[in-house]
Amino acid sequence: MDISIVVPLYNEEENIEELHRKISDTLNKLPISYEVIYIDDGSTDSTLKILEKIQKTDSHVVVLSFRRNFGQTAAFSAGFDFARGEIVITMDGDLQNDPADIPKFIEAIKDADLVSGWRRRRKDPLISRRIPSVVANWIIGKVTGARIHDYGCSLKAYRREVVKNLKLYGEMHRFIPALASWYGVKIKEIEVTHHPRYRGKSKYGIGRTVKVLLDLVTVKFLHSFSTKPLQFFGPIGLLFMIVGGAIVLYLALQKILYGISIGGRPLLLGGFFSVLIGLNFIGMGLLGEMIVRVYHETQKKPIYILKKILGPGD
Ligand code: UDP
Ligand code: MG
Repeated sequence: MDISIVVPLYNEEENIEELHRKISDTLNKLPISYEVIYIDDGSTDSTLKILEKIQKTDSHVVVLSFRRNFGQTAAFSAGFDFARGEIVITMDGDLQNDPADIPKFIEAIKDADLVSGWRRRRKDPLISRRIPSVVANWIIGKVTGARIHDYGCSLKAYRREVVKNLKLYGEMHRFIPALASWYGVKIKEIEVTHHPRYRGKSKYGIGRTVKVLLDLVTVKFLHSFSTKPLQFFGPIGLLFMIVGGAIVLYLALQKILYGISIGGRPLLLGGFFSVLIGLNFIGMGLLGEMIVRVYHETQKKPIYILKKILGPGD
């Protein structure tokens, strides 16, 4: 199988038929084998019914139906798990992304591992969506070091190995380029057509920006420290202990050498607290080290990601 198209759908009954027609028209013209995986993310309208009907008439179609609404990230994740294609292409199911762009992605991924769409002329509300998005893209780029213009664009293409190695939580599908670049994946960005949403309602508002930024904190933390927690907490702890220790020593010397009473000095309290806080941080770091080991060893999670294995017989 060459291509898997992955499309999450949550209450998109007005869009599916036209979407499927457009995807099929585009792909049937290409000399490739493909599948289209539609994920019904717990829709409460007739989305699933329409998908079932489409699936009966088109053997390219795979339908995954969630028991309830798990969110777009979960939907992508399910699509990735089931995808059989060498290239996996994701897109929105509301016709805001244009299936006619798919061939460009197939071309672009020939010399990349991940191709990300850039909705340069984005057709969404300015105040509630485009401005927050510019800010969020800038922050994500700064924090993760993966500079692309449009993290939020769903239209992306991946080599199979890239998606099979991803573990997604929360609203994290938009950080895939960042996660992938940390794995050492080669990323390319191309401009895509974007349409306003003609039918159905957007599932998100400005509140999503906050969730995205919180997820960014998680992603960054896990990336920087997930295999070395003591290196994160340790230095903070040591700093507290050194400062606290110096204070306590200073007071002790005053008492011993000059017989000055130190019992009523606020500094004493500060010194002791500092030592205790320092010990706590180091303890946390050590606990973290144990958790990391339990996490990786019980679940057989490697701390590396292979690109290729060459050996006798290959
Ligand atoms: N979607 C989904 N589950 C959700 C929310 C959205 O599968 O909980 C799908 C939705 O049906 C659409 C895509 O994700 O195909 C993008 O959603 P939407 O168009 O509402 O987002 P926007 O374009 O406004 O950012
Ligand atoms: Mg949309």
